[in-house]
Amino acid sequence: MVRYAAGMSDDQNFQIRLASRPVGRPSAENFAMVAGPVPAPGDGQVLVRTQYLSLDPYMRGRMSDAPSYAPPTEVGAVMVGGTVGEVVASNAPGLSPGDVVLGYAGWQKYGVQRASGLRKLDPAVAPVTTALGVLGMPGFTAYAGLTQIGKPKPGETVVVAAASGPVGATTGQLAKIFGARAVGIAGGPEKVAYLKEIGFDAAIDHRSPDFKAQLRAAVPDGVDVYFENVGAHVWDAVFPLLNDFARIPVCGLIGHYNATGLPEGPDRTPVLMSAILRKRLTLRGFIQTEFVAELMGEFLERATPWVRDGSLQYREHIVDGLENAPEAFIGMLDGRNFGKLLIRVS
Ligand code: NDP
Repeated sequence: MVRYAAGMSDDQNFQIRLASRPVGRPSAENFAMVAGPVPAPGDGQVLVRTQYLSLDPYMRGRMSDAPSYAPPTEVGAVMVGGTVGEVVASNAPGLSPGDVVLGYAGWQKYGVQRASGLRKLDPAVAPVTTALGVLGMPGFTAYAGLTQIGKPKPGETVVVAAASGPVGATTGQLAKIFGARAVGIAGGPEKVAYLKEIGFDAAIDHRSPDFKAQLRAAVPDGVDVYFENVGAHVWDAVFPLLNDFARIPVCGLIGHYNATGLPEGPDRTPVLMSAILRKRLTLRGFIQTEFVAELMGEFLERATPWVRDGSLQYREHIVDGLENAPEAFIGMLDGRNFGKLLIRVS
């Protein structure tokens, strides 16, 4: 028998669906807002009312049907996304109305989800929003990329792109915890000041006219690990500073996600290949899901105390109202978010 929470019987669902595939930068017309009935949970399922929706750069990839590591969102389907929400009806043992869970309901107010795919959260351990950020997928991405690929040794220099976001800020602070020197790259003076506040040894604004010179001065011993989140002009600035045997976890290339073709200019592949050979570089692309089974337990066990004692700090950028998700998402691709971007849905 389905167990419902009190007082929700006359509510309506509200969804944001993919209306069309963007060419270049997404716009409001690519999204459709749709109201409809609240679904009922089937066997083994629960109905969850979304409290927070996570907005993440990978969603740009899902809007496109170009070849990728995951299938695209179909036009007309609800936009995908990680969510934290409250169980309001349960048809599954182990979860009851009132429980707060981490799931993947997407851009909607109510979602039916399989109970087996949800993680019950304890708000007494850490604020539930952290399950979408520093103690969630982005934080785990930083941990997996750094421990499995970057492998910084004490005293080495780790450079991090998009360093004020949830992946980058966690990466830099983990590098410090592991005894390395952390240098962050971010857009604008406020983000740069924040990076110094949370313990980066140096922080550089990639929009400064002398960005390359500033970066060079910040890494007198060269770069041993470059945590790549951006590509584009940030990669161009870091590339000549890489040391022999540098490791480059290629985590994201947000500077290219809206590109519609190759950049102008000569083919620089031979320059890159030659550096990979001469300097014996390791460039390794990764998707965090490949490490979840092996490492997620270890990550939560180690990182939760670091968050609780303040050695791993985080910043959230919370926007109210699901209807504002498209604008907030487009803004993130332009760097307008400052911290983990979340939508407060209800
Ligand atoms: P962020 O919150 O850091 O948001 C993205 C940031 O990227 C923006 O705020 C902006 O910061 C920066 N940015 C955007 N465009 C450019 C540009 N053209 N040049 C330089 N900087 C730019 O996002 P996340 O922390 O969630 O994600 C960071 C990266 O990690 C992304 O590339 C994402 O795709 C990737 N990722 C990869 C995963 C994996 O499994 N491989 C999993 C999760 C994330 P600023 O203002 O500082 O420029």
